[in-house]
Amino acid sequence: MHILLMGPPGAGKGTQAAELVKEFGVPHISTGDMFRAAVKEGTELGKQAKACMDAGKLVPDEVTIGIVRERLAKDDCKKGFILDGFPRTVEQADALKGILEDLGLSLTRVLNINVPAADLIERAVGRRICKKCGATYHVKFNPSKTEGTCDECGSELFQRADDTEETMKSRLSVYEDSTRPLIEYYQKAGLYTEVDGRQAIDKVTSDLVAVLKG
Ligand code: ADP
Ligand code: AMP
Repeated sequence: MHILLMGPPGAGKGTQAAELVKEFGVPHISTGDMFRAAVKEGTELGKQAKACMDAGKLVPDEVTIGIVRERLAKDDCKKGFILDGFPRTVEQADALKGILEDLGLSLTRVLNINVPAADLIERAVGRRICKKCGATYHVKFNPSKTEGTCDECGSELFQRADDTEETMKSRLSVYEDSTRPLIEYYQKAGLYTEVDGRQAIDKVTSDLVAVLKG
């Protein structure tokens, strides 16, 4: 099960990936999470990524492709993976094809979570994430039981620095210019399926699971 989860920023990729991990037991690989980890560690990669992320721009392709190539070569990816937030450009999609060919793997399906642009800013601005386990909440659509505290592990929740209205405008514009063309790219490859991401979280999950088991 080698899956790409696509969709605009705030569509619900991370939320759904966590559910698919429970269902299928394959690793969740999020380039956004990898960059945030590098920022936290203060590495060179982290410094470079932070400047791009704070501006709502993409981290350069060669850097992003490099970290994905390394990650997909790890043993745990042999049984499958859920890639979230990569590829985001046609160049990254072409590179992914080559990486998978080198590893003797191929994509099972590309799942696009479709949410209209009008809903995405509210989703991102209200997003809260657990500092420790990464569980994702929303102040209105998926609140934790106790405000500011993770239901899963009791740790503190935080708001991402790039989850502001201003940065989201830039991220949505980058999505339209650079990432939306991948819909046609994967349609042509015969791999593309879309699900309605405006539904409740558990309904989106059951639609995704139905596609993958169908
Ligand atoms: P992405 O990984 O695509 O950027 P997330 O999974 O982090 O998106 O979700 C963005 C925000 O929207 C989070 O606060 C999340 O709780 C909320 N969210 C996710 N799915 C839904 C949904 N189906 N309906 C309403 N809110 C949702
Ligand atoms: P995300 O967590 O997927 O919303 O990503 C957060 C930020 O990380 C993005 O706005 C980009 O700055 C950067 N990023 C994540 N994935 C990629 C990618 N595939 N290519 C370039 N930049 C990325």
